[in-house]
Amino acid sequence: MRYRNPEKRKADFKEVSLGLTERQAVKEAARCLQCKKPRCIAGCPVEIDIPKFISFVKEKDYLGGLRTIREFNMLPAICGRVCPQETQCQGMCILGKKSKPVSIGSIERFVADYEVSLGRIDLPDIKPSNGHKVAVIGSGPAGLTVAADLAKLGYDITVFEALHEAGGVLAYGIPEFRLPKKTIQREIEFVKGLGVRILLNRVIGKTQTIDEFFNDGFKAIFIGVGAGAPKYLGIPGENLNNVYFASEFLTRVNLMKAHHFPVYDTPVKKARKVAVIGGGNVAMDSARTALRLGAERVYIVYRRSERELPSRHEEIENAKEEGIRFRFLSDPRVILGNDAGWVRAIRCEKMRLSDPDESGRKRPEPTGKEFTISVDQVIMAIGQTSNPILVRSIKGLKLWGDGYIGIDREGRTNLKGIFAGGDISTGAATVISAMGAGKRAARSIDEYIMGR
Ligand code: FAD
Ligand code: SF4
Repeated sequence: MRYRNPEKRKADFKEVSLGLTERQAVKEAARCLQCKKPRCIAGCPVEIDIPKFISFVKEKDYLGGLRTIREFNMLPAICGRVCPQETQCQGMCILGKKSKPVSIGSIERFVADYEVSLGRIDLPDIKPSNGHKVAVIGSGPAGLTVAADLAKLGYDITVFEALHEAGGVLAYGIPEFRLPKKTIQREIEFVKGLGVRILLNRVIGKTQTIDEFFNDGFKAIFIGVGAGAPKYLGIPGENLNNVYFASEFLTRVNLMKAHHFPVYDTPVKKARKVAVIGGGNVAMDSARTALRLGAERVYIVYRRSERELPSRHEEIENAKEEGIRFRFLSDPRVILGNDAGWVRAIRCEKMRLSDPDESGRKRPEPTGKEFTISVDQVIMAIGQTSNPILVRSIKGLKLWGDGYIGIDREGRTNLKGIFAGGDISTGAATVISAMGAGKRAARSIDEYIMGR
């Protein structure tokens, strides 16, 4: 994969990776062994026929490759950019045992971008209308997948989205420099092209209720509202001025275009020195966004070591190249403020690693040694949890953990006609796992409505 120069790219929000050239894509496709029992498919949550799509690319039939992917996955340009392929399809590729696995994600991105370069969208065959209405709540990858799969089967689908833009985390969370808005919009146009209606600014549970949907003739409801509520550490100083929760910080910039304030209405506080707490994709995105807003120093403060960082490897490397500083084995204890109530520093405790915990990662243990980093902004990126607005409005809905919806393997909740999937049932996960859940739920909704 080709990337833009770190010195140039860290000063703007344009996409960092440039994708494969045609020559590179064909050459990479030619490396695939076309295995009889392809391990890569088993590693893909939506089970794309990977060898088949790659064989089209090898023959330079890029649209054939794209059609094959779209039989399984309606968002190839998005998945080709943000899926953690290294732990999924590519992680399973047989070639990875002795050398480098096939770069499946980059080839997927190439075929999706190839169609863009032709200025066309090839829609698949759609079955005639069967007259059944299904409501989908939330327009993230889970909701969009259910909507697209059912629309292809002839269902009348309406997606209800709380925000003023569709796409879920893809639109409000993942920054432009990793996933351009025009890429998301194009894939949403594809879903709309299947006949899906998307209604924005509808906070279900407030503006409308589930009972009203059933009374309006919807036969089934899919809940894909994600896990967007903030999680805090619970340390002193979290209420100081200039402490942000990552989703709010990223939403201000990505969705509300705060970096163009006052041209756009929403502001964001720019800082000189920023500490981002956490080590996942959200932390990397927040750190790199703060850098692009003009920060001179940005620290990632993470309580385990580099080996345990949950973010995608590619994003860690990109962050390092751009000059993000890492403070490993560091656990924040208190955020310190000045007399006016603004952040001035963060005090951390040095940690050491001991035996693995239930997640399989080594457990951080306090050492008693403390140190202070001087910063004027802190961004909390330690995870998200379920938002209670909708789930608590549904009487009798079985929940687990911090308010996640309990479902079976096929996306059925304990209530008749109500299905769910994605982050709201698993907790914060990945785009492709949300899409996998959407596919299973779509199958199950079809069986339920058709009485099979
Ligand atoms: P979401 O994408 O959260 O979408 C839910 C939608 O429901 C939202 O649009 C929300 O506004 C809407 N909604 C909520 N409540 C209501 C309501 N009451 N009524 C109507 N609509 C409602 N995953 C990866 O695979 N790769 C990455 O690189 C990656 N990077 C990430 C970076 C960030 C900053 C974040 C936050 C997450 C990242 N993830 C990544 C995780 C991934 O984006 C999520 O797992 C995925 O988007 C979950 O999809 P979903 O459809 O379940 O929910
Ligand atoms: Fe090709 Fe690797 Fe899949 Fe085998 S496992 S079919 S080599 S991508």
